[in-house]
Amino acid sequence: MTLNVNAIDLHHFISKKMRMSHIYQPVMIKALLENDGQATTEEIAKALLGYDQSQVEYYSLRTKTMVGKVLTNNGVVEPIKDGRQIIGYRLTETPHTEAQRAALQAICDEAIHTYISKRGEAIWGHRGSDSGYVSGSTRYNVLKRAKHRCELCGGHEEQVALHVDHIIPRSKGGPDDISNFQALCMTCNTNKRDTDDTDFRGILDSYNNRQTDCIFCELGAGRIMAENELCIAIKDAFPVTEDHTLVIPKRHVADYFDLHQPERNAIEAMLHKQRQSILEQDNTVTGFNVGINVGASAGQTVFHVHVHLIPRRDGDVVDPRGGVSGVIASKQRY
Ligand code: AMP
Ligand code: ZN
Repeated sequence: MTLNVNAIDLHHFISKKMRMSHIYQPVMIKALLENDGQATTEEIAKALLGYDQSQVEYYSLRTKTMVGKVLTNNGVVEPIKDGRQIIGYRLTETPHTEAQRAALQAICDEAIHTYISKRGEAIWGHRGSDSGYVSGSTRYNVLKRAKHRCELCGGHEEQVALHVDHIIPRSKGGPDDISNFQALCMTCNTNKRDTDDTDFRGILDSYNNRQTDCIFCELGAGRIMAENELCIAIKDAFPVTEDHTLVIPKRHVADYFDLHQPERNAIEAMLHKQRQSILEQDNTVTGFNVGINVGASAGQTVFHVHVHLIPRRDGDVVDPRGGVSGVIASKQRY
């Protein structure tokens, strides 16, 4: 097999011309080089898969907790250990001849093919396609928003492989809006799956809850400055400072602590967006107070959650020290 592109050109392409937006190009070229210059798309896909740390980690864990255990218990393999950690397996008895090895491989192949033809695609159902396909750009943006850490345990992606999944599964009607995604490490994701009996359908329907006579449920379209899937932003009618903004979930719910995670994500995204647009429009803004009043004792007067985004400017009060601690005016300055 000869290569169409001569070796010098290929060298030049890889070292000088190749513009990478992912690892795909060098992995594909390497797969081709390893296969005498040509490979099926499936072979190339498998080469790429080998670099997908979340997939590798997933199957490493399955090996150790499931198949490795079963085969060890049956005396077929024994674990190879580094200290207390299992780092591999070896057959307890290896075939003596090449022919024996080939025969054993053939009956493994047969067992695999028989099983697949009987059960079909369903055998990969555990890989979580109930949450639907997650596009590369969504994955990227969710990881970026999560600062590349598990949103439950805080583990960094350098230590744990992060999975980006729908919060409300797609099969239960969860939207593809970025607010409905979260980044979880495999341990948190697995634990959540095992224990979570949340009625997702109910949560989804609840996003449509509105209450008559609630001023934030009945805002006219003209009042809404910006919106995303689950929340809106308006100007406060009685601003504490110029551009005092309220970010409000669309669902009628009084208490901030009753929000669902997708709503918190949506509110967070909207706070960033509003902050950015205030800063772009008004260069006198030098700080912000972000606050939520929860309950009448804490000063809440409108019982539909809203997050105050209050722009601050140098000198807008004589002594700003303590900021939100001013809720107890006598204790604002410590
Ligand atoms: P809280 O005291 O935290 O419940 O905040 C209620 C906020 O809603 C206050 O900042 C009010 O100025 C503001 N507000 C009250 N009525 C309206 C309205 N119709 N439109 C916009 N903001 C309002
Ligand atoms: Zn309401």
